[in-house]
Amino acid sequence: MDLPQYLVVADNTVVLDGVNAKFMEYLAHLAMLHKLLFGTDLVITSGKDGQHVAGSLHHLGLAVDQRTRDKNPEEFNLWMHVLSYSADAVPITVFDERNFPPAPHLHVEWHGA
Ligand SMILES: [Zn+2]
Repeated sequence: MDLPQYLVVADNTVVLDGVNAKFMEYLAHLAMLHKLLFGTDLVITSGKDGQHVAGSLHHLGLAVDQRTRDKNPEEFNLWMHVLSYSADAVPITVFDERNFPPAPHLHVEWHGA
């Protein structure tokens, strides 16, 4: 699939086909902000692919994981504020899973239509 500008996948195992269209629009906006703030692309490390717990919204195309190791603590803090602020207008839920094995990441869920 053609990805929005500044949105990239970590590798070719990451599947974004079938991710909710409105969620993808939101991620496209986020990617632009990511580029503006940090000068780098927003890296998705998991979409519909991968091993996720039963009932995970990943399987439904309603969750993605974002890379966190590309940001220093200050940048991560800013990014969390951007996401949290946007949650007032956009139906997302954000989980800081930097301590979650096997790889640290930010889990973002879409709770809209
Ligand atoms: Zn996840």
